[in-house]
Amino acid sequence: MAPRLDWKQRAACRDLDTSLFFPESEADAAPAKAVCTGCPVREACLDFALTTRQHDGVWGGLSESERRRVRRRRPTAA
Ligand code: SF4
Repeated sequence: MAPRLDWKQRAACRDLDTSLFFPESEADAAPAKAVCTGCPVREACLDFALTTRQHDGVWGGLSESERRRVRRRRPTAA
């Protein structure tokens, strides 16, 4: 079953430039993370990224390496 995507309608990043969330390096991820901090769908976004194994970019306020650490701690996450 495909993951639900209706949470994207309420995303704080909905009208922002997508490239902000795909910085050249994780050291440049702070502006994206700042947007995520106030996002009302942060949890759903992170869950989507973990479930669908999004490897690049900032999702749910976490960078690629941070999401890898979450996956290791949550073996049930896909
Ligand atoms: S948590 Fe961040 S990347 Fe996810 S929808 Fe919200 S603003 Fe966008």
